[in-house]
Amino acid sequence: MATSYAFGFPRLGKKREYKKVIENYWKGQSSEKELRDALDRIQDDMLMTYARSVDRYPVGEMTFYDPMFDTALMIGLYRSENLQEYYDFCRGKNALEMTKWFNTNYHYLVPDLSGVSIDRLALNWNKPGEYLRNFKRGIPYLIGPFTFLKLSKGAQPDQFSDILETVGEIYRQLIDEFDEVHMDEPGFVMDLSREEIRGIQQCYRIIGTANCKINLFTYYDGVDFLKELFELPVDGIGLDFVHGNDNLKKLKSYGFPDDKLLIAGLVDGRNVWRTDIARSVEVLDDLSNHAKNLAVSNGAPLYHLPVTTENESLDPELMENLAFAEERLHELSLITQAHKGLPVEEWYSPTDYGTDESVTKRISALKEKDFVRTSTYRERKGLQEKWLNLPPFPTTTIGSFPQTSEVRKKRAAFKSRKISSEEYTSFIREKITELIRMQEEWGLDVLVHGEFERSDMVEFFAEKLAGIATTKNGWILSYGTRGYRPPIIYGDVSRPKPLTIEEIAYAQSLTEKPVKGMLTGPVTILAWSYVREDVPVQDVSFQIGLSLQDEIHDYESAGIRIVQVDEPAFREKAPIKKRDWDDYFDWAVRSFRLATNANPETQIHTHMCYSEFGEIIDKIAQLDFDVIFIEATRSKGNVIQSFERISFDRQIGLGVWDIHSPAVPEVKDMKEIIRRASRVLPKENLWINPDCGLKT
Ligand code: GLN
Ligand code: ZN
Repeated sequence: MATSYAFGFPRLGKKREYKKVIENYWKGQSSEKELRDALDRIQDDMLMTYARSVDRYPVGEMTFYDPMFDTALMIGLYRSENLQEYYDFCRGKNALEMTKWFNTNYHYLVPDLSGVSIDRLALNWNKPGEYLRNFKRGIPYLIGPFTFLKLSKGAQPDQFSDILETVGEIYRQLIDEFDEVHMDEPGFVMDLSREEIRGIQQCYRIIGTANCKINLFTYYDGVDFLKELFELPVDGIGLDFVHGNDNLKKLKSYGFPDDKLLIAGLVDGRNVWRTDIARSVEVLDDLSNHAKNLAVSNGAPLYHLPVTTENESLDPELMENLAFAEERLHELSLITQAHKGLPVEEWYSPTDYGTDESVTKRISALKEKDFVRTSTYRERKGLQEKWLNLPPFPTTTIGSFPQTSEVRKKRAAFKSRKISSEEYTSFIREKITELIRMQEEWGLDVLVHGEFERSDMVEFFAEKLAGIATTKNGWILSYGTRGYRPPIIYGDVSRPKPLTIEEIAYAQSLTEKPVKGMLTGPVTILAWSYVREDVPVQDVSFQIGLSLQDEIHDYESAGIRIVQVDEPAFREKAPIKKRDWDDYFDWAVRSFRLATNANPETQIHTHMCYSEFGEIIDKIAQLDFDVIFIEATRSKGNVIQSFERISFDRQIGLGVWDIHSPAVPEVKDMKEIIRRASRVLPKENLWINPDCGLKT
């Protein structure tokens, strides 16, 4: 009979305790001891929550900031004597680069292996051992050595297999003291070379000699080398059957070894729709014909979901359809019960929200010309220069300014109806006025209104668009202690009324300088929301694209002629496997082009950040914007290399200011980034700006 085994439960806490206790420590309001105790309490809570519903679960998923960085400390790549030093690597002067974890919006700190001498690496911190000793239950948690190294940067290609062996040896030492470990290896679902697969085999030959059971988890997609995977000297293998497209088919044709445990990921760790229990039980029954030992699990870690639906007050029909992390645990117990033949009452039948015909008709009427601007970039450039008249190296920002506690308080008061909409509007207007004055004083060239009215760049639009719900407590972590609440796209999306015109037009009325309209792009709204699965994702994306296009046309009527459409998730949303890229980028590029199909005089800006640009540079080039702003500080401007390869003829702003770090950048470092860029691109195409929005 199948047992249940869950992992990746959100560490944020029901009331975002994780955020609060760490930030209190940063503000000097609590001691190191108090922080440690508070995080232990959250870990304890996680273990209790697991134990209420499932048989097995990891311990030590907790972290002071990021588990990837912890792994780097464990193997001695970095050393920190105390929490101050630890946080210095996370967000201080020594801050590591940050990048998105697979195709998710969680950002991890990227360990840097450049120039590392292999013999310096050694077991430096037994993190899982500490947690096991403290909590005396759960399976010690580790990020697997391959995933760790694959996601690190700076290793010379010919060094990789040596480092992997060395790290494998460190892991062997580490796990030898445990009976059993939990090892996450999502790196296995990436496109891997033969050599990398040989490296994995060699590394696990070493680790496998430890006197310890290994449960190895893959997730987010299928594994292309299942045969070799099944032969690794491990005891349990986790496969994602929700997002792992070919896993099931291949497993059926290869069979599964009798001496191993198949940990079947059957409930979705990435989306919020309730699991069809009957269907999962069918899959499980089917699997039991091929695998002797079975466990049921979540397909991907549960931290991509909010903690619980318990504290939400959404439309009851929608509520019925949702499962967050705690509810997923409950589903796992239902599946195992039903598999045993016990009666299950909570079968799921999804609600149909009906169709908005005015929306679906517009989608089916789309023609090729709807995705193409009427003039080329060259033609547009001339037209735009004429009215814009900007100095060399124009300066601007990415849009948001700090959301002070004053701003947050007012918004909260407005939302709970403690202040009137007039009072709120006039407060926002004051903030905009102040900011316009300041930007004029600083001498910036293209101004922004500051985004004071926006809680979050996706949520704000989600609240105004039809077909999308927003939650009260549905927080998930984006990096460090920073969280956001992904909206839920459940129906056809449309724009009942203008979204942003009022604030932007007001800002423009205060100054002679151009103010840019500020929109979040269709792909990013989609990527940072939970999306319905009953229609093709491309349709949802085009629906959002059309809503934004309407907004841009309203800008044009209101005299706003620069519009920035942010697409920070353009790279993130790309499937992990390259063979799925064409499909994705086809609709992603078209959605952006649909949204930005504006008059030739309208200058379209876009912004992307914290992603690897190199691989997608030709896709970026297809977006047909006029100016792009990208983050560049942590790479010291080297991201410009990517633009060297294509003959990039658009304007670009490289970030000279790292917005994630409170450290003030040196003038010489900022200059160096601009110099670096001007070696590659004509000076007259360069803008100057921070890496990303300043609200962080
Ligand atoms: N315009 C947004 C801001 O300034 C962009 C944020 C982002 O790229 N994540 O906050
Ligand atoms: Zn950004």
